[in-house]
Amino acid sequence: MNIVSFENVSKTYRIGEVDVTALSQVSFGISKGGFAALVGPSGSGKTTALNLIGCLDSPTAGEVIVAGQPVSRLDRRRGAQFRGEKLGFVFQDFNLLPVLTVFENVEYPLLMIRDMPRGERRPAVERVLEAVGMTDQAGKYPAQLSGGQKQRAAIARALVGNPELVLADEPTANLDGATAQRVMSLMKRMRDVFGTTFVFSTHDPRIMDQAEATFYLEDGRLLDAPTAYGEDRHA
Ligand code: ADP
Ligand code: MG
Repeated sequence: MNIVSFENVSKTYRIGEVDVTALSQVSFGISKGGFAALVGPSGSGKTTALNLIGCLDSPTAGEVIVAGQPVSRLDRRRGAQFRGEKLGFVFQDFNLLPVLTVFENVEYPLLMIRDMPRGERRPAVERVLEAVGMTDQAGKYPAQLSGGQKQRAAIARALVGNPELVLADEPTANLDGATAQRVMSLMKRMRDVFGTTFVFSTHDPRIMDQAEATFYLEDGRLLDAPTAYGEDRHA
């Protein structure tokens, strides 16, 4: 069963008088419980595709279905509600709030989006901090953490609301190679532990090797088979 389906999806941005085609008639499916990569060079449409899945943007044509729900024409309020209930996000630059501790950063979505009572928040936060191995860092501020620790905290924040799907846009782009591999392994383990589907984007061949399903984009089109990326990988 697919948790994400793209059916002939196109996305065109209008800048002044010029149309920029970010995605062109893209169709694919990601199975529930999968660990899937969107791969392509800068400008190929990866972020656009993730934004459509995340209800942060709407396609110009076609349909995006997430967790059984056609999301292309959700209005802002229902899009935000859907996001809060079903999705978690991990970012390239971690997006941790510097004035909050690790614990408070992870707690934040429960407070802001779900309005969960305090007594329920604490065990939920402790559970995901434990899962990502950050229990001992709970009282620290982001500035006191390494890049790898920041991303572990961000993964805990993405998981705290029990999402069906975590979207990670170039989650390892600001990490060194060894740390990047550890962060990928952690996400895969979280998929195994919580059953959460992960969809991530990358242009790093070492990272894309970790994916169980890989979708290659180039100039907004889905490629049948890897081209330059496959060659890189075996170079
Ligand atoms: P990637 O994440 O693979 O680097 P993007 O999805 O960010 O690619 O971009 C795909 C194309 O769409 C690029 O040509 C980019 O310049 C364009 N684009 C992306 N977002 C916008 C936007 N908000 N307004 C105009 N053009 C955009
Ligand atoms: Mg991008």
